[in-house]
Amino acid sequence: MNFGQFELHTIETGWLALDGGAMFGVVPKNLWNRSIDADEQNRIPMTMRTLVIKYQDRVILVDTGAGNKNSEKFNRIYGIDTSQHEMITKLSHLGISLNDVTDVIQTHLHFDHAGGAVSFNASGDPEITFPKARYYVQKHHWNWATKPSMKDRASFIPQDFMPLQEAGNLELVDGPEELFPGLELVVVNGHTVSQQLVRVRDGERSILYCADLIPTQHHVPAPYVMGYDLMPLVSLEEKVRILGEAVAAPTVLVFEHDRAAAAALVVGEGEKFSAGTVGSLEEVIASL
Ligand SMILES: [Zn+2]
Repeated sequence: MNFGQFELHTIETGWLALDGGAMFGVVPKNLWNRSIDADEQNRIPMTMRTLVIKYQDRVILVDTGAGNKNSEKFNRIYGIDTSQHEMITKLSHLGISLNDVTDVIQTHLHFDHAGGAVSFNASGDPEITFPKARYYVQKHHWNWATKPSMKDRASFIPQDFMPLQEAGNLELVDGPEELFPGLELVVVNGHTVSQQLVRVRDGERSILYCADLIPTQHHVPAPYVMGYDLMPLVSLEEKVRILGEAVAAPTVLVFEHDRAAAAALVVGEGEKFSAGTVGSLEEVIASL
């Protein structure tokens, strides 16, 4: 779909299921369970969704899902399932081959966001999935991801990202930046150190890819902050500010992990927010 000078698509790159308690932090199950069901292991159904942006001669991806490098056991624990959706196939449906991708923005390097950045070749060695692409990672996030804490080290798998540096495809970014005219990196720090969200502008209107600041429509209410977050109070402040901006100016939120809906508008005032219109990116943009 066209949005100003950009052509935008969302693709699912695989399903995921994470513990509902961890996904909703201090919110009790008898509240979050009203809007989303948990499976027999208390996991909620999620997806991994990449934003595809075509701009002039560039093909830009935002996040790359979990990829195909993980063991069966790992995929079982996290409910990773690429039988319905798979990144390379989905890109080919858009007429995009691996060599066509010029830029990959990694919001952060947790395995469900960056696993697809690197693949195994036929001999089982890691290689860059999009060999011609620059991969953008915030510098402070890179430094953290290569030396994570005990709380979050299970979320970082070095083979997802170390090959980017070794192959010379890594581009470290220092803080917020307008990467291309109308395409901005927005840095937030509550979920992890220097996560970068992506805002695409068309005049007053914008699309905000929320990554793990607001992973699903159920996380729009400000106190619905994940237990995974390193600094939940910072996430809360960041959500109140960013959601306030999304109410004040026409903004479509894009959810990386919501299996039911790719996008939503926000309604609310003060510190109280909820998802208004929800649907596909095309439907929600049309309702702006
Ligand atoms: Zn994350």
